[in-house]
Amino acid sequence: MIDLETLKDKLAQPCKIVITTHHKPDGDAMGSSLGLYNYFIQKGHFVKVVSPTDYPYFLQWLPNNPEVIIYTEKPEESKKLIADAELIFCLDFNALARINEMGEEVRRSSAIKIMIDHHLEPEGFDDFRHWNINACATAQLIYDFIVNYLKDGELINKDVATCLYTGIMTDSGSFRFPNVTSDLHRIVANLIDAGAQNWKIHQQVYDNATEGRLKFLGYCLSNKLEVLREYNTALISVSKEDIKKFDIQTGETEGIVNYALSINGIKLAAFIVERSDRVKLSLRSIGTFPANEICKKYFDGGGHRNAAGGQSNDALETVVEKFRSILPEYKELLLQ
Ligand code: 5GP
Ligand code: MN
Repeated sequence: MIDLETLKDKLAQPCKIVITTHHKPDGDAMGSSLGLYNYFIQKGHFVKVVSPTDYPYFLQWLPNNPEVIIYTEKPEESKKLIADAELIFCLDFNALARINEMGEEVRRSSAIKIMIDHHLEPEGFDDFRHWNINACATAQLIYDFIVNYLKDGELINKDVATCLYTGIMTDSGSFRFPNVTSDLHRIVANLIDAGAQNWKIHQQVYDNATEGRLKFLGYCLSNKLEVLREYNTALISVSKEDIKKFDIQTGETEGIVNYALSINGIKLAAFIVERSDRVKLSLRSIGTFPANEICKKYFDGGGHRNAAGGQSNDALETVVEKFRSILPEYKELLLQ
């Protein structure tokens, strides 16, 4: 581990920096990455954002998005950047498996690894960490890092503010989760003062659906939603064929699980989707119910108490059956 002063000394000269984030990046992952990028370019560093995979079109308007390199599209260039980097910032994840095969490249690199994250149980690959599980978004920690650690608040310009606002907005469910505090609202107010156009960001992220996405949502709600009242649980499962029929792209299934959770009395909601290579689960819960425990114990995943994810190589029906079979174990908690 290195201390803050050592990191600051390193950052006092122009450095070769790689910023990376978890695969299939969401709004917080890309907002944090490009937020930090837009700060570092003002300091004269040579900096690149390398994403392990592609990400949704509704994030591709973020300031300087065209500068992002996607590992799966440019593996050789990405590997060289990682190998040559002096500093690698790992944002919104804390285990190298979350960046797929890029994880081994990062592990091998002699760069100083800085982890900025808000997930539970860091693996420990990092040399410096700004880690707080109470933060509602990694973007909140990036703001804290720039303003309070590096004392560069005046460099939160419109581009940085726009990216960080996007990260906080998406990871806080539009400022409505329990970890949204008055302090967070003060940060958000500062971001708006720095130039983030709040109304426009909401529109670009949330009112940017394709016709297929909206029809797919309708299909999920009317044909695929199952409410298991005896467990206060709701579940939606969709097959590869469903995804193909509605031409659903990366990220377009995001948020559908929240409709299942919005039913009165429901404490646990699951969205189970058959992807080309595996079945992916998204779980959401209310209150103290540990959705992450189910993901960790049964589905090779993890996450936060109220928002977690996992996966399986089994067939879709098998995964759905397994999910159902787990519910009796949690019945007492679900009915509390
Ligand atoms: P989502 O349902 O949106 O994919 O993920 C919800 C939360 O669970 C996110 O905070 C994400 O980081 C976490 N998560 C999703 N999938 C996985 C996984 O496979 N492993 C771990 N450790 N966390 C995950
Ligand atoms: Mn996050």
